Amino acid sequence: MTTNAAPKEVAPGVILVDTGYVRPGLAAAWIVKGKGSAAVIETGTAHSVPHILAGLAAHGVARGDVSHVIVTHVHLDHAAGAGALLAQLPHARLVVHPRGARHMIDPAKLLEGAAEVFGGMDALRMLYGDVLPAPAGRVIEAPEGTMIELGGRPLRILDSPGHARHHFVVHDPATRGFFTGDTFGISYREFDTAAGPFLFPTTTPVQFDPPALRASVERMLAEKPERMYLTHYGMLEGEIPKRAEALLEAVDGHVRAARAAAPGKGRNAAIQAGLAEQLVEGLARHGWKGTRDEAVAAFAVDFNLNAQGLEVWLDAQARA
Ligand SMILES: [Zn+2]
Repeated sequence: MTTNAAPKEVAPGVILVDTGYVRPGLAAAWIVKGKGSAAVIETGTAHSVPHILAGLAAHGVARGDVSHVIVTHVHLDHAAGAGALLAQLPHARLVVHPRGARHMIDPAKLLEGAAEVFGGMDALRMLYGDVLPAPAGRVIEAPEGTMIELGGRPLRILDSPGHARHHFVVHDPATRGFFTGDTFGISYREFDTAAGPFLFPTTTPVQFDPPALRASVERMLAEKPERMYLTHYGMLEGEIPKRAEALLEAVDGHVRAARAAAPGKGRNAAIQAGLAEQLVEGLARHGWKGTRDEAVAAFAVDFNLNAQGLEVWLDAQARA
């Protein structure tokens, strides 16, 4: 059973759907409505498909009217459900970064890599369900500048390396918003305070690139956005430059924590401990009143992924 919140319109024609991945409020999919057509941005996992279909029905979008399914990048919490969702949406085409397209058409290599990160195929299957291939004829590779027309509502693709090289963000001029995937960090709603949302980086393996991430954030800021639609999780509204600054400071903090960890067997644990310290200090500065245990528990999955990604980055730096 799910305790997910019901799909909700958070800005004109922008509907937030909880994909149910891991826990409520962790991973979103978005429905964007134009005149007579609509897009789904992010798919969650194969288990998320019923939540997305329910969101379409609840907000008056016929399955046949969905023209595009868009994934910001091919990490499985964003894209594992793409093939299964396409099977339910007869006219939809899948829009994906040129570097990610082949992994949607043949997920075998993607699954192999993810099994390494998540601890084996069984764990993977439990989290993501059956990752179905997307039919090649329904896949659109979307390089920088691609325009997607949703019945009078244009969406624009901006290449956004930094979290991954197969990552783009989706600009929605109608709401002055960006669907950021993992390019604007993660921000769980339970850490909102009077100071606003709390942002934390996501440095998942294997392509984290701090300077590229900074450049991608700055490119979005240049459009003077008023809203950011985060996959993890929900809409941030207002004071976007201030949020961006906090995020980029936290990215620098991650890099420092990685560099401070002694090489060898204990490195991963040392990095995770450094990130936990950074989280707890950051939340205290942010005026959050919960306990350390609550904070660390909410970010446990992220610490693990972030530390692994930072290790891959450190090793690449050492080789360069
Ligand atoms: Zn993610």
